[in-house]
Amino acid sequence: MAIRKVLEIGDPKLREVAKEVKKFDIRLHKLLDDMAHTMQQKEGVGLAAPQVGILRRVAVIDINDGEGLRELINPVIMNEEGEQQGQEGCLSVPGRAGLVTRPQKLTVKAKDRHGKEFKLEAEGFLARAICHEYDHLNGRLYVDIMDRELTQEDLERMATEAKRRVYRRANTNNKNVDEGDNAVEDETHNE
Ligand code: ZN
Repeated sequence: MAIRKVLEIGDPKLREVAKEVKKFDIRLHKLLDDMAHTMQQKEGVGLAAPQVGILRRVAVIDINDGEGLRELINPVIMNEEGEQQGQEGCLSVPGRAGLVTRPQKLTVKAKDRHGKEFKLEAEGFLARAICHEYDHLNGRLYVDIMDRELTQEDLERMATEAKRRVYRRANTNNKNVDEGDNAVEDETHNE
């Protein structure tokens, strides 16, 4: 496995519509392995092939939810439901973060690395990550559609508020061990 170079905003390849994968061969498997490795090394939660300069409809996602790595090839989003607003960052847009509105729930149809079709129902942060990567396959970045950019002060304030919330909850219910996970949602994840 190799680490691939991640393109940054301003690179025209990030603005192109990626092509469908037709061959589920060793080259695709190598691309998927390299993308997973690159995402992990850069501590991202998702990566799309155009971000490493390959204009194919391929994305990897790992949101640290215990489900491991998800590979999506030729994904199609169906049945979007509801709305959520949350923070997003992107490995191709370093040092920035924004608030983006995404569907709360969706179903995605995609193929696995062997060409077998599957459906995945996603909500919350996973739905957000899928939308973010899907946009990359169509040449779109979150900064194009964000509700607003978050400043350094916004991010610091949100981190402090999240900590305070956890502290308050921990004091009212110190048996609730899930609080730490909730705090993570207030952080910006790079995709
Ligand atoms: Zn991204």
